[in-house]
Amino acid sequence: MVAPVMEQANIPLPDRAAGRLAEVRARIDAAAKAAGRDPASVRLIAVGKTFGADAIEPVIAAGQRLFGENRIQEAQGKWPALKARYPDVQLHLIGPLQSNKVKDAVALFDVIETVDRPKIARAIAAEMERAGRWPRLLVQVNTGEEPQKAGVLPAETDAFVARCREEHGLEIEGLMCIPPLDEEPALHFALMAKIAERLGLPELSMGMSADFETAIAFGATYVRVGTAVFGPRGPR
Ligand SMILES: *Cc1c(COP(=O)(O)O)cnc(C)c1O
Repeated sequence: MVAPVMEQANIPLPDRAAGRLAEVRARIDAAAKAAGRDPASVRLIAVGKTFGADAIEPVIAAGQRLFGENRIQEAQGKWPALKARYPDVQLHLIGPLQSNKVKDAVALFDVIETVDRPKIARAIAAEMERAGRWPRLLVQVNTGEEPQKAGVLPAETDAFVARCREEHGLEIEGLMCIPPLDEEPALHFALMAKIAERLGLPELSMGMSADFETAIAFGATYVRVGTAVFGPRGPR
């Protein structure tokens, strides 16, 4: 099958993927240096949601190893085969987690970034014990206190992280946030950095295609970038 001329733009898919990836990596490195940080302290998570294995594989071939997905069912459709072929790929869950999907999430993901309530923490702890698989964990913080958004409220984060540790024996490595679309992200990133520092958490997952450079200035250790790596997303 031949792609439409506009889409094809005479550049083979793998080259386009490699080009975009190199560009994003260069922007990450520049932002880290501008902030007086080691570029290696900022890791890129390529967010492949809505894209199939045909689009993801060239990005893996170009050297990318961390990927993010926000829907468990979608991830199950493409990642088991890709992970079998590329065993050093690490998959991050960056979307909401329901109790009935905890088993699937623990089986497939290497990092779960969206731990956000006691019920889920308890279920993850039980499933990790049962499966003998130990994904690394971040807590999602709803920095904008948006009612429709997942995540613990900033004021409740300390108590929730403590509860994860003490009651469920879970080691929380850091925090993740998705700031409100219509607000200045820097305020949210600054709040995240403050909470993480207070709790002694080393990892901060924040920043997307539109604002990852700002997130890096505020201490992001993971940036989650979809569009700038894969191009615009179509409908699911
Ligand atoms: C889709 C998504 C991203 C990437 O968004 P882009 O704007 O395409 O970079 C990052 N984080 C989460 C949680 C997402 O769902």
